[in-house]
Amino acid sequence: MSRTSATKITYATLSGEGLDEVHEELDAAVERAPESFGDEYGMIIGEDMVAAAEQFEDRSPVDDRIVLGRFQSGLARHVRGAVAAARQALPEWSLLPWQERVARMRGVAEAIREHRWELSVILGYEVGKNRLEAVGEVEECSDFVDYYCDRMEEHEGWIIPLAGSGDEQMNMSVLRPYGVWAVISPFNFPMALTAGPVAAALIAGNTVVAKPSPITPFAVARLGEIIAGCDLPPGAFNLVTGANKTVSRELVAGTGVDGVVFTGSHQVGMQLMREDATRPLPRPFIAEMGGKNPAIVMRSADLDKAVDGVKASAFGLQGQKCSACSRVYVERPVLEEFTQALVEKTSSVSIGNPLEKDVWLGPVISEAAYERYRAAVFQAVEDGGQVLTGGERLSGGLFDHGFYVEPTVIDGLPLDHELFRTELFLPITVIGKVDGLEQALEVANQTEYGLTAGIFSEDDAEIQRFFDGIEAGTVYANRRAGATAGAWPGVNPFGGWKGSASSSVGAGGPYYLQQFMREQSRVRVF
Ligand code: NAD
Repeated sequence: MSRTSATKITYATLSGEGLDEVHEELDAAVERAPESFGDEYGMIIGEDMVAAAEQFEDRSPVDDRIVLGRFQSGLARHVRGAVAAARQALPEWSLLPWQERVARMRGVAEAIREHRWELSVILGYEVGKNRLEAVGEVEECSDFVDYYCDRMEEHEGWIIPLAGSGDEQMNMSVLRPYGVWAVISPFNFPMALTAGPVAAALIAGNTVVAKPSPITPFAVARLGEIIAGCDLPPGAFNLVTGANKTVSRELVAGTGVDGVVFTGSHQVGMQLMREDATRPLPRPFIAEMGGKNPAIVMRSADLDKAVDGVKASAFGLQGQKCSACSRVYVERPVLEEFTQALVEKTSSVSIGNPLEKDVWLGPVISEAAYERYRAAVFQAVEDGGQVLTGGERLSGGLFDHGFYVEPTVIDGLPLDHELFRTELFLPITVIGKVDGLEQALEVANQTEYGLTAGIFSEDDAEIQRFFDGIEAGTVYANRRAGATAGAWPGVNPFGGWKGSASSSVGAGGPYYLQQFMREQSRVRVF
């Protein structure tokens, strides 16, 4: 076992005992990081590292003077090459006994763990994650791999003898891979949301072409190099980088891909699914999309817990989590007390270089994100809302080299206002006043999204009513560590309902892996 720390960092345990050793390792990794800044990374196609004619530069949102690396502007022909390599690797990989595939994938989990500090620092610089959020994401990658390996073992490869088998006939259900999968990941969890689907596809016997967001190619390129360096046949894992209009386009609209996992916005996911439906043949298309996640605070709530939970989920990773709590419905009698406490705690958070030990919030990802922030704050004020804290961009020193904005709490808007319905993906949360749980549920459900939701209540009947009545795939009651966020493989599967996901099961849950296989019902007569 090569793990160098006994401390387990998840999204729900981002503090506590044993963190000193974690910080020492991170300090050293932060110091080493600049040695690799500016390097050029190839695409992984079969056994080759492939360069395109042109490269693009990836600058850090933490400090735009830092060029993290140079990445390939892949073209359609690179995607076709990667798909062909994946297809070529398919017979060898898919026909391996499942136990052998699992054994080799355990090696992938371990290899990621061995690089945990380096990978965490990359996430800090490339996404603007704070230290422990970054370590959590890397841990999650390894846990995804192990969890899906465990499921394969638990179900003994999904080879199930059926009724009617005997001396004269054998009847079986066998789950078998589809073939080549494309894995398209978003910028905010570039490693975990690549590693999770890639692991599930590979463990199930498929081969993969992964494509990161052009905003976060570094994290996925390093992850890809680590995966490709494990004991897999060349071509089982491929990685292409580049612009959506060339690389993404070819990957999704071209031929040779038998299944797609897309994680990203509702708008893009729906557009790709509509296009997918026009193909001559059907194929699985798993789309994990956005959220507009509500927290409900009842008069019976432990308000201290509620404030901590809402603050953590609303502003963690600068509100750029699909599970971010971007609206809070508070029962009238506790509105003032809750709001005051939330404003107080929000206005004192530390903002700065997220690679520093005591900083909680880094920059938002881009100028475009900042423009959306400005527009949302402006619109709130225009429409009669009050900005209770935040609303401004910070300036001076490092703040002039990234888009560092204050976490923002807004109230006074009507409950049907756009800011209660549109996913902003920013550190902004809106507070609404409700008369009771039924009204809270009604307004909470009045959106096209259904990703996560949370309640704070000390009343069992209220909690049960919330679980039964809320239209969301991942739900929490009384979670101080995050009102609406903090999933973990095997502990809290993560998936959405309604416009938040095309599939009905959660990543990191007991049903996820089966989506990467199709049933073959076998009858053999002797
Ligand atoms: P995005 O939709 O802009 O991009 C997602 C991926 O799709 C990226 O790899 C991007 O390059 C690619 N892409 C963009 N346009 C494309 C096109 N026209 N054709 C093909 N590919 C295209 O999302 P983002 O800004 O990277 O990520 C934020 C979004 O992702 C938010 O909406 C967030 O809620 C969502 N998200 C959802 C989950 C989940 O598990 N449900 C997890 C993380 C993020």
